[in-house]
Amino acid sequence: MANDPRRRGPFRRSPERTPLDDVDVILTDLDGVLYAGSEPIPHAVQALTEAQRNGIRVGCLTNNASRTDESVARHLRQLGFDVSAGDVITSPQAAVRLLAGLVEPGSLVLVVGGDGLVAEVDKAGFEITRSADDRPVAVVQGFAPEVGWRQLAEASFALAEESVHWVATNMDWTLPQARGVAPGNGTLVSAVHTAVGRLPAVAGKPERAMYDLAVERFRARSPLAVGDRLDTDILGANRAGIPSALVLTGIDGAKQVLAAGEEERPRYVLSDLRELSQPYPAPRISRSGSVVEVRDASVRLEGDAVRIVARGQRRIDLLRAASTLIWNSGTPIYALQVPEELYT
Ligand SMILES: [Mg+2]
Repeated sequence: MANDPRRRGPFRRSPERTPLDDVDVILTDLDGVLYAGSEPIPHAVQALTEAQRNGIRVGCLTNNASRTDESVARHLRQLGFDVSAGDVITSPQAAVRLLAGLVEPGSLVLVVGGDGLVAEVDKAGFEITRSADDRPVAVVQGFAPEVGWRQLAEASFALAEESVHWVATNMDWTLPQARGVAPGNGTLVSAVHTAVGRLPAVAGKPERAMYDLAVERFRARSPLAVGDRLDTDILGANRAGIPSALVLTGIDGAKQVLAAGEEERPRYVLSDLRELSQPYPAPRISRSGSVVEVRDASVRLEGDAVRIVARGQRRIDLLRAASTLIWNSGTPIYALQVPEELYT
């Protein structure tokens, strides 16, 4: 809220800004941020609920193509997070938006996938087929447990015609399941790719289509993307020109942060979502660039060796200092000596 004195007033302004200062919409990933499998992640729902109370809209972005926006919203409400289907952006929605830019309205589209994808393609006014014999003008492909050889073969037959467009909801190679890791949509797209020798347009993160759709739908002027993966959430946000926060409650940890390539670097690194509304310390960088301090944590670059000068009280500040030092060094991580303590 623009006139909320706690956030922006001249009298109680904190010397350090929080990641949420001036943000009007949070675009958050779900798995690894709000929940891990069936377990809620501590503090996440509370932190995002507080942001909502302060007038910030929270949009939920998921690459998962097998669930509808309504079923995602229902799951989140069960965790105590008050959102509706309209707050959820799925990769099938972004795929349909891409499709609309490629083919005429009402065109015949071959769908490889399940109900979530069929519902979105239908909602957008396209005709749906499951057979290449009907001569569809496009193939849209998303994951569903029932996708098998027959659906992949129909897609391949249709895509043999070069003019037929191909859109994939996402390229996640794997899909974590309760019983282990299973092949994801990227793996199934790859099977079709092997047969047809070309690649689809991709809607899901790290491509920017989902973020573009989110900015449009929520009329975001100053969004912040939040995610647990550098190679999808953060890379996608950077491609879409949206500042981002990596939260260390999911897939990526200190090791991935320190090694992050330029395109996968977040603006903020958070240990959990409470830090969204806490002052975020700006790193102090020495003139030569060889020393970086974040609060009471300090690191120094000596030749190609990273040294810990002061551990400080909070591990997250040490990681923030070390990542700033390493990212600014211009030297790839494999050419640096990095103390194990920084990434274990
Ligand atoms: Mg995630």
